[in-house]
Amino acid sequence: MTKPNTDAQSEGRPIPYGRQTIDQADIEAVVEVMRSDWLTTGPKVEEFEEAFAESTGAKHAVALSNGTAALHTMMHAIGIGPDEEVIVPAMTFAATANCVVYQGGNPVFCDVDPETLLIDPEKIGPLVTSRTRAVIAVDYAGQPCDYDRLREVTDRHDLHLVADACHSVGGKYKDQAVGTLADLSSFSFHPVKNMTTGEGGMVTTDDADFAESMRRFRNHGITTDHRQRESRGSWHYEMTGLGYNHRLTDIQCALGLSQLKKLPAFIKRRQKIAAMYDKAFFDIEDVTPIRVEPGVSHAYHLYVVKLAHRLDRNRLFKVLRERGIFTNVHYSPVHLHPFYRKTHKTHAGQCPVSESASEQILSLPMYPGLSDHEIRTVIEVLYKVIQEVQR
Ligand SMILES: *Cc1c(COP(=O)(O)O)cnc(C)c1O
Repeated sequence: MTKPNTDAQSEGRPIPYGRQTIDQADIEAVVEVMRSDWLTTGPKVEEFEEAFAESTGAKHAVALSNGTAALHTMMHAIGIGPDEEVIVPAMTFAATANCVVYQGGNPVFCDVDPETLLIDPEKIGPLVTSRTRAVIAVDYAGQPCDYDRLREVTDRHDLHLVADACHSVGGKYKDQAVGTLADLSSFSFHPVKNMTTGEGGMVTTDDADFAESMRRFRNHGITTDHRQRESRGSWHYEMTGLGYNHRLTDIQCALGLSQLKKLPAFIKRRQKIAAMYDKAFFDIEDVTPIRVEPGVSHAYHLYVVKLAHRLDRNRLFKVLRERGIFTNVHYSPVHLHPFYRKTHKTHAGQCPVSESASEQILSLPMYPGLSDHEIRTVIEVLYKVIQEVQR
């Protein structure tokens, strides 16, 4: 191991690209559940679902074990089956596409807009076939997609509009909260996301039938849960379809409730950090923040910059890491992973904008606990390293 240079480490620890914000109230909320009768499938699940639904304005929220389970559950709810197609952006995390494969369907990869890296509505139409059933829009980095334009396309082709909102909890599109913009919206509460339950997920919808179908699916396809049977004094239950154990525990829901209260403050801080970065990079020609469209409130799960072609991104990543700044790359286009090349015959050249962007993007440290001093350090070190890695 080489001893890292101490540029970013005057306070000891390296600066990660993302991390959770946990306070005493969070800890106490968890401890309280640990002492209660219900560790899972108890009252905290409903309480968290209701508070989450209210915070987004959606009619229903269904808690799930993680964001991937949330995506899987949405695909089941809209009835994706063998050989049916769902259009997904190439610039996303693998789970956005994998959830289609879990149901026996095929993800069809769509390219993104070069400035925002959001799915390009114009490129969806040509990918639609008689087997296409839905579009999954990913609010990349935390910026809500252009849902008006997406809805036009999905209405024209009679498709479900589904949101992978794992980055954008707390964001808004034209004053409408994320969670109400698509037929179904999924969220993740992984520690690097905008709020956390350790592992965790949620789906919001206005459709009561979807909500009821998702509650069964997360509980083995069984019509009632343990607590409902207990309160009715009955042991009898029926499994009406194949489901999974995709449940979220009461321990996690208590943490979620406590985190949800702080979400508006978390988002405000993320936006403040983004503004500090934006201001600094305005004068640095080689570093261009991803474009933010007017009329959105960006939730800034990630702060992504595009580097000039004359910079070697991979070297920049490595040198920053040596100086204690742990950046990341979101993402390698999903269609280029060996699994999809092998099983879905995807190939380079299929989504040229995503492929070329993925060589030049870098996600800088972004989380509410980042101090102003640390942000200035990131900017200074980045500026210095850029001078060193010009090719
Ligand atoms: C994090 C994430 C997921 C998966 O969420 P998990 O809770 O980690 O399963 C899915 N899609 C996107 C875009 C994500 O960022």
